[in-house]
Amino acid sequence: MTSPPSTPPPPGAPRIPRRLTAPEPGWTSSADVIVVGSGIAGLTCALALRVHVDKVLLVTKTVLDEGSTAWAQGGIAAALDPEDSPEEHLLDTLVAGVGLCDEEAVRILVTEGPRRVRELVELGAMFDRDAGGDIKLTREGGHHRDRIAHAGGDSTGKEISRALIEALHAVLHDPGIEVIEHALVVDLLSGPAGRVCGVTLHVLGEGQIDGVGAAHARAVVLATGGLGQIYTSTTNPPVATGDGMAVALRAGARITDLEFIQFHPTVLFLGEGSTGQQPLISEAVRGEGAVLVDRDGIRFMQGQHPLADLAPRDVVARAILRRMAETGTDHVFLDARHLGADFLAERFPSIVARCRELGFDPATDLLPVAPAQHYVGGGVETDHDGRTSLPGLYAAGEVACSGVHGANRLASNSLLEGLVFAHRIAEDITARILAGELPMPDGPCVRDDDDHQILDSRHRLALQRALTSGSGPIRSADSTADALAACAQLAALPVVESVGPRSWETTNLLHLGVVLSTVAGRREETRGGHVRSDFPDRDDAIWLRRQRSVRGADGVLQVSDLAVAPFGPELAAALAPTTPNR
Ligand SMILES: Cc1cc2nc3c(=O)[nH]c(=O)nc-3n(C[C@H](O)[C@H](O)[C@H](O)COP(=O)(O)OP(=O)(O)OC[C@H]3O[C@@H](n4cnc5c(N)ncnc54)[C@H](O)[C@@H]3O)c2cc1C
Repeated sequence: MTSPPSTPPPPGAPRIPRRLTAPEPGWTSSADVIVVGSGIAGLTCALALRVHVDKVLLVTKTVLDEGSTAWAQGGIAAALDPEDSPEEHLLDTLVAGVGLCDEEAVRILVTEGPRRVRELVELGAMFDRDAGGDIKLTREGGHHRDRIAHAGGDSTGKEISRALIEALHAVLHDPGIEVIEHALVVDLLSGPAGRVCGVTLHVLGEGQIDGVGAAHARAVVLATGGLGQIYTSTTNPPVATGDGMAVALRAGARITDLEFIQFHPTVLFLGEGSTGQQPLISEAVRGEGAVLVDRDGIRFMQGQHPLADLAPRDVVARAILRRMAETGTDHVFLDARHLGADFLAERFPSIVARCRELGFDPATDLLPVAPAQHYVGGGVETDHDGRTSLPGLYAAGEVACSGVHGANRLASNSLLEGLVFAHRIAEDITARILAGELPMPDGPCVRDDDDHQILDSRHRLALQRALTSGSGPIRSADSTADALAACAQLAALPVVESVGPRSWETTNLLHLGVVLSTVAGRREETRGGHVRSDFPDRDDAIWLRRQRSVRGADGVLQVSDLAVAPFGPELAAALAPTTPNR
């Protein structure tokens, strides 16, 4: 059985407009390079660019440390131990990606990773150290070596973010870099031959730079993070509304592998009506001995996988969903009580503090947990230098699909991806500016035509619910078609709100919901992070392809397949035991 090579979505699927409804830009600004977003990818890229480029403009939707980076708990993976090697990290990453990684991109990640992490240390990031002064390394699911560097026990992202922001503050006197907070990028601007030459953005500022404006540049780097808010519950912060992917989609860039969403198995369950960002209980807690039990106190991971409670994330998430269905409940429990109050407080200070704030004490209470959206593996397709399919547009970090994750992300590889590829982008842009390949736009740099749309933010929950039940962790052809139909209904609703950040974000979620439901419907396999209830069996003939989505000139989404070469026998053997099909 094979899928057609290129297909439009089913009839009735909503078309994607060229831009969001927004006021005419009231001011203009310019820079050599605009970096959008201030997580690990955006901050790293801006800091590296300013060394050689005359003027960098860094814009971020709220404040500098708001984004997934500051929430990362577990750590950053890199082969720092002399016993370890990039080659072993490569193998673990390829295995986790279930055959769909871009091997060369992974090779870049694992080879350049250790140097980039050491540079982070030189910049001031304080990782936890052992008695001998070496960086302490721990292990997480899927890694066969201790290679996760962490900080503050479970506050790695906060420490990395602090170090990068401090480095930024140290250079803010430099006229070569400008930072604008509370600046939401609405859409991309295009010049002759479709070259991206700037952005429209909405700034909550003072004086001349306030309201919607236009900023022009030789190149734009999207570092806007993930899209977790597309579902009713996620570990991602409120800013994770997929804006960068949506602006790229509307401008005609290729969006790839969007169906590969990772659902974290152990997210604190705060009740049926609880929506938005939910507290993550890191798998390191299970690594230290906590176990999953059902409502009757029965351990259910034993016998499901040789690693039981420490099985790969997708295996644990599926087992929890199955047990929830069998017992008719909406959560299971994590039992960490036997680890003791002192150990828990020392090893997991942030997690314990957050649980206590919410009325749970991990030392004395069972913690209710359920799977929730955690990470998106797909995004704006990039090459090994972070270039997208649109000239002048780059993407780094979670917004990008660099090919390093394939169908499933290996734990703690995402901070590393943002770090490594942000540096590569800075190097590429610098070299191209020097070579005269990225001129300042001198022709018209415009936001295109009258093809625009907006969805009221009051419909956000309805959209999230439709996508959670239709294109969430358990999917089928029928459910993804229902999700697509819900998107179409919402897209047709009259607009009563005035446009603004909440409605722009909601419309971005709608446009990505169309792509997600379309490609999730075409992916007829249970591998990666999700279950296809109607296709539980393995079929390599239809699995080994990546799905590329592009907005056609008429606004209709076109999806095509990119064949992926199968692994050689050694890797194929390594893959087999870690990818149970159900
Ligand atoms: C709870 C949690 C725990 C995690 N733990 C780990 C871990 O232990 N190890 C690991 O490797 N990964 C972990 N991850 C994943 C990892 O944190 C993210 O993938 C990574 O930080 C993404 O970095 P980024 O720079 O791409 O995006 P982000 O850090 O999310 O930053 C995105 C930035 O873009 C800005 N932005 C968004 N839209 C716009 C717009 N329209 N205009 C202007 N600015 C915009 C945001 O405000 C933000 O500043 C975790 C994620 C979460 C949520």
